[in-house]
Amino acid sequence: MESHIIIFDTTLRDGEQSPGSTMNLKEKILLARQLERLGVDVIEAGFPAASVGDFESVKAIASEVKKATICGLSRALETDILRTWEAIKEAKHPRIHTFIATSEVHMKYKLKMSEDEVFDRAVAMVKYARSLCEEVEFSAEDASRTEIKFLARIVEGVIDAGAKIVNIPDTVGYTTPNEMYKIIDYLKQNVSNIDKAIISVHCHNDLGMAVSNSLSAVLAGARQIECTINGIGERAGNAALEEIIMALKTRKDYYQFDTQVVSEEISKSSKLLTTITGISVQPNKAIVGANAFSHEAGIHQHGVLANKSTYEIMSPESIGLKSNTMVLGKHSGRHSFVKHLKDLGFNLSNEKTDEAFVKFKELADKKKKVYDRDIIAIAMEEAVKSPETFNLKSFAINTGTVVSSTATIALESEGKIYEEVAIGDGPIDASYNAIKKIMSVEAELLEYKINAVTEGMDAQGEAMVKVKSNDKIYRGHGLSTDIIKSSIEAYLVAMNRIIEK
Ligand SMILES: [Zn+2]
Repeated sequence: MESHIIIFDTTLRDGEQSPGSTMNLKEKILLARQLERLGVDVIEAGFPAASVGDFESVKAIASEVKKATICGLSRALETDILRTWEAIKEAKHPRIHTFIATSEVHMKYKLKMSEDEVFDRAVAMVKYARSLCEEVEFSAEDASRTEIKFLARIVEGVIDAGAKIVNIPDTVGYTTPNEMYKIIDYLKQNVSNIDKAIISVHCHNDLGMAVSNSLSAVLAGARQIECTINGIGERAGNAALEEIIMALKTRKDYYQFDTQVVSEEISKSSKLLTTITGISVQPNKAIVGANAFSHEAGIHQHGVLANKSTYEIMSPESIGLKSNTMVLGKHSGRHSFVKHLKDLGFNLSNEKTDEAFVKFKELADKKKKVYDRDIIAIAMEEAVKSPETFNLKSFAINTGTVVSSTATIALESEGKIYEEVAIGDGPIDASYNAIKKIMSVEAELLEYKINAVTEGMDAQGEAMVKVKSNDKIYRGHGLSTDIIKSSIEAYLVAMNRIIEK
């Protein structure tokens, strides 16, 4: 299909590599499942040779995902490629992705190899990968800064060796849309066997041009785009999946390409990633930012009320943002709650559904209107939560302008109750000190954030913390209409993770 653009998601590989985005196995599987619902064609699940943990998670995702192709990244080394194959071979559609740098600066200073040596290695490793796996992708790292004739030569060589996909990355985010067009066009014109492979692009956003560069490449003949949810990734990140999808969809009249992505799953995918990593997107971020669909200026509001198309080029519903209607109330039963969870795409275990239902009931008692966003927040919270060594039993805080803050915290662990009192600089600090006393764990609080899930005084507060212990970073997430409680829960999750280690 000439008009079909293959969407290759690398949130779990390039994205996970970015600062503070490390995910555990459970979180990776959860995200992989969501990527499958989103309808991406290829999931790059990780870099199996990087560590045992990476290997295990790629392997788990390979057996979990049924529709999408599962791809593993490997350097152009036999050991890496074999390790990747071991991790992905159970996948329904496995793909080995191998790469080597081809730009002069990389070959000279990083690889210390000549053009011929790089060429021979690339060809040999693609052949080796093909001996294991039917589908092999080759990437010429730093392609956009590679001498174009050499790039054409190596692309021709790896296609001859059996690569079905050739990826042209703008590894350092240096190129411009026009240049990207010319590179792809040059390969189309000058590589004799180019029709035997799919051309792919992988653009970084250092100059804010990753999406534009990807779309230019497609206009020139590329048929696979590598991208990530929320544009996360090394440094300034990768091309943002949601922007690519909505550009192709909204400007179908111009691009005339199709993807199999279900755009209505975009908002949820973005939110899930934010919940897992604790990295939120800026409010004015295209497509998934909190303000992306709000009209503030009076004249704009007036126009939208008269006719949406005056200022709205796409609808919030098209990315899965339901209008702000109250969906369930305090009299809603478990049955309608479960049905609603399913409609929102959540398939929680019975136990987690029970817990989510209890939370929903508590919320419906406190909050006048329960929105979809509330239910999504509760379901996400349950979905990423793991059983914990210490659970919150109760807390009492005394704070004010004339007294120093004191927190009494009771935690439960294996049927026993542990209680401690601590003072601190404010109620959160005091609570965290009490928890540290109980768990006797040394940890440094690096980051603390609190966000309201919806508008209104009775909104749920979503707390996110990052703590450091023994040079490792742990994240935690908590949700409650009481911000002290969500802050305590977020900290407890992170501290429990340290103990598990
Ligand atoms: Zn990259």
